Amino acid sequence: MSTIRKRRLGRTGFMATEIGLGGIPIMQVQDLDEAARLITYGLDQGINYIDTARAYADSEKKFGLALKGRRREVFLATKTHAYDYDTAWKYLETSLTDLQTDYIDVWHMHDISTRERWDKIRSQDGALRAAHEARDQGLIRYIGVTSHNDDLLLECMQTGEFDVILCVYNLAIHGAGEKCLPYAHEHDIGVTIMKPLSGGIFFRREETYVDPLKAWHFVLQNPHVNVACAGFKNERDIDQAIEASRTFQPLDEAEIQELVSRARFLGEDICRACGYCKDCPAQIPVPEIMRIADEARVFSYEWPRFRREYASLNPKADACLDCGECEERCPFKLNIRERLRMVHQYFGQPV
Ligand code: SF4
Ligand code: SF4
Repeated sequence: MSTIRKRRLGRTGFMATEIGLGGIPIMQVQDLDEAARLITYGLDQGINYIDTARAYADSEKKFGLALKGRRREVFLATKTHAYDYDTAWKYLETSLTDLQTDYIDVWHMHDISTRERWDKIRSQDGALRAAHEARDQGLIRYIGVTSHNDDLLLECMQTGEFDVILCVYNLAIHGAGEKCLPYAHEHDIGVTIMKPLSGGIFFRREETYVDPLKAWHFVLQNPHVNVACAGFKNERDIDQAIEASRTFQPLDEAEIQELVSRARFLGEDICRACGYCKDCPAQIPVPEIMRIADEARVFSYEWPRFRREYASLNPKADACLDCGECEERCPFKLNIRERLRMVHQYFGQPV
């Protein structure tokens, strides 16, 4: 078994391997037994942190199969994407069944990236009340939150409700490193990271190609990161993450600059969610659509989610009057209209 370095997961006190098993790409492994075998391979290498979610199709089922008889070896995180009390409870019961366990270590409120969701989960009829009760009953041990919105994530942490967070941190998207991760560290909140390799975008094009180990090292170099969750659909993905931990060497400032500039293909024309384009005369929710456009480029395996999210927006991009006001107001001069058209083309079909 390889030796993977361990880090203390904030106030949970758990000594987690700095590499965790993430639960998204395993959805693409069709055969349940083959998926369980891969997960078992990761556990046999010594990985002791798992991050899955109710929203990831049959991912929980696959982990449940692999965890039979090994449940106590790991710290198990899953998530609810139901934000109301009743449905959150139902989802928790399904998670416990699929994961074949009687407790979850950390139950995340999934993707609290909008104020609407944040307001919902903390309302009287919200999922947080279900989480408190579940914790009192010993069904979950800790409450966590995941988000793609750094300001909102910080606000969530400031309430003191959450013991663990999960957010994006990689060469292309590293804004969380400025405020969120230091805040979490200072308040002893466990920090887990998703998309450490930005869904593999760095390796797809020559202009952005970076050595995967260096991309990993960038993430592991941040002392505020406790666990970086690696998505995997074969043994090679797991081996590579473990190799990154084993060979870790800090990058110097010049190397970081070079790597970040390679990732700039994504970073420079990414929407910064400033909202300056939001007063569209056709009332199109432009920043929301821009976020979908950016995420869809990186997280291709989450396309069903983008289709659902786009379906919930109104009016859609095809209401565009082509006035160009949004592009005039965008401080980053993004080609907004083209991306709106792209999102409508890919995600505009009925769900
Ligand atoms: S170009 Fe389209 S999306 Fe942009 S402000 Fe005008 S109507 Fe709205
Ligand atoms: S103005 Fe530009 S950067 Fe700001 S939210 Fe709109 S598209 Fe994104």
